[in-house]
Amino acid sequence: MNAFTLNRRSVMLSAVAGASSMLIPGLANSGTAHAQATPALAGNAGHYRFRVGDISATVLSDGVIGGPPRVYASDAPEAELQEVLRQVFLPADHMTLNLNTLLIETGGRRILIEAGAGKTMGPNGGQIFDNLAAVGLAPADIDAIVISHAHPDHVGNLRTADGGKAFPRATVFVPKADWDFFVRTDPDLSYMPVPEEFRLRFAANIKNSLAPFMNDVELYEAGAEIVPGLTTIVASGHTPGMATFLVHSGNDQLLLTADLAYHPVVNVDRPWLPGPDRDKETALASRRRIFDRAAADRLPVLGFHFPFPGLGRMLKTDGGYAWVPANWQF
Ligand SMILES: [Zn+2]
Repeated sequence: MNAFTLNRRSVMLSAVAGASSMLIPGLANSGTAHAQATPALAGNAGHYRFRVGDISATVLSDGVIGGPPRVYASDAPEAELQEVLRQVFLPADHMTLNLNTLLIETGGRRILIEAGAGKTMGPNGGQIFDNLAAVGLAPADIDAIVISHAHPDHVGNLRTADGGKAFPRATVFVPKADWDFFVRTDPDLSYMPVPEEFRLRFAANIKNSLAPFMNDVELYEAGAEIVPGLTTIVASGHTPGMATFLVHSGNDQLLLTADLAYHPVVNVDRPWLPGPDRDKETALASRRRIFDRAAADRLPVLGFHFPFPGLGRMLKTDGGYAWVPANWQF
């Protein structure tokens, strides 16, 4: 690609962004639209191993989803948002979000934290099964799956195409308040800055994905310890029951931030509020409380939607926070 075509492309992207910024359209279809623009997954690793004390940990990518940047930075002034995206070489019209599920192996059990999106949010999810196979595991090797909140990109892989359990032996842990809100009722999702058609599909995908577990789901209250070494932390606001996680062994800890932030560029380095947060004030308080802890204790952090493998640390700055990605470990 020469400089001329690059310029042509950026001009075209800017034009698209200008047209879309008022309406926030296209989230439902954006995955399809960008499937052609995204280079094929051509053999790069989608798994990343490390340790937390005695616990073996592996980030397993389920692929990516995404949408208009405005969705994830609902209160950003348009000119500032565009300038920030330009400065970090991100496209103006589409923000890619990763799906970094975490497998931990401890006490003879294999526990998956988040199930990933599958195809519920576009065609580029559903990679977790290949990445499990790449580390020598099958879905039947998973003993438990712990979900931070019930959005489709966190539960989408739980159900097979024919309605069965995709992880046949796994006990599935879901926050009780999210089960009550998304599964037991027909929730009002009008707060989400997406088209009505998208909201209906979003709600249906949650119920479908969790349907195989109606009789044996384990509902938990954030704050509970799921197994020794995996503690849940209250982080409500994004959804009624969202939890984040602390994986701990000896002096080592790893903090998972779930959907307190979608992309560090807009929700850590800038203080902008994710549009899908149901109660933005409560979500902001949760974000600050948990980011403050991460910064004060200099904790390793895993961001579910951050650029793969999603590991780094948070610094407190004069005006907020800064994300510092971890160096790749071979
Ligand atoms: Zn999410």
